[in-house]
Amino acid sequence: MKKTLITGGKGLVGSSFKSGEKPSSKELNLFDYQESFNYIKKINPNIVIHCAARVGGLYDNMKNQADFFDQNVMINSNILKISKELKINKFIGFLSTCIFPDNLNKPLEESDLHLGPPHKSNFGYSYAKRMFDIQVQAYNEQYGLKYFNVIPTNVYGVNDNYNIETSHVIPGLIHKTFLAKKQNTDLIIWGSGKARREFIFAEDLSNICIQLSKKYNGNSPIIISPSHEISIKDLVDLIVEISNFKGKVIYDTSKSDGQLIKNTNTSKLQQIIPDFKFTSIEKGLHKTINWFFSNYDKARK
Ligand code: GDP
Repeated sequence: MKKTLITGGKGLVGSSFKSGEKPSSKELNLFDYQESFNYIKKINPNIVIHCAARVGGLYDNMKNQADFFDQNVMINSNILKISKELKINKFIGFLSTCIFPDNLNKPLEESDLHLGPPHKSNFGYSYAKRMFDIQVQAYNEQYGLKYFNVIPTNVYGVNDNYNIETSHVIPGLIHKTFLAKKQNTDLIIWGSGKARREFIFAEDLSNICIQLSKKYNGNSPIIISPSHEISIKDLVDLIVEISNFKGKVIYDTSKSDGQLIKNTNTSKLQQIIPDFKFTSIEKGLHKTINWFFSNYDKARK
């Protein structure tokens, strides 16, 4: 019988998979090679979907470059080696569109990944993930494997990290709006609102990964995005409207905007899965905001 192991099973992406073994980072401690080897051997999966990572929003990355580099290199190296040693048949790892060169001035394509330095705000995370791309390529070449990475755009959804200091923009703004509404205060947005992003709902990403595990026979990375771009200002307007926040919205332009633009070219994905129906940002935000507002106490924050 086919068995799938999903690392980072309690995180935003891992928890959105509908089935599979989904250990938490406590149960499967990927910093420890031997402990992880023994744990995975016992599960005996034939597919590994490696979602575990040290992730965070722009401002968390800016403060902790070394941690983002060290932790990602360590867990990626361990899981890849273990998967090879245990003769795992299929392996899907995760990169991110935020690791691409900055200022390419064109939609991002898979082949652009190493063409120039990443944005300086997250160079620790970016180079760690770029090294994972290289490491997977090296394993494929030396050991004749068909392991591959997906490159999702910004992911959001119900089971996210909603901590205001460390979160990505959507969970951060949802939490801030919740508090501003409750405490009757202004809503403070970090940056000018001019940066543009594409967002994918976590459930769409996990559904696509499952389809790729069946349909994709190659071993090179694939960008995953609905390719629908939105400015942070328009995103704020949507969150304010859905949350029914009536107070004042203020942009703190002393804070960084990060990378201004990172739109994608998804023709490779469209060739493999031509008919995928992405969740619209409006619908995804509705689900996420409703979930957070009614699960405030148990949300990660
Ligand atoms: P990025 O896409 O990797 O840069 O990461 P984020 O998800 O953290 O998005 C950052 C963008 O959202 C930047 O342009 C920020 O200026 C903007 N932003 C506005 N308010 C917030 C906030 O409260 N938290 C975060 N993380 N970003 C915010």
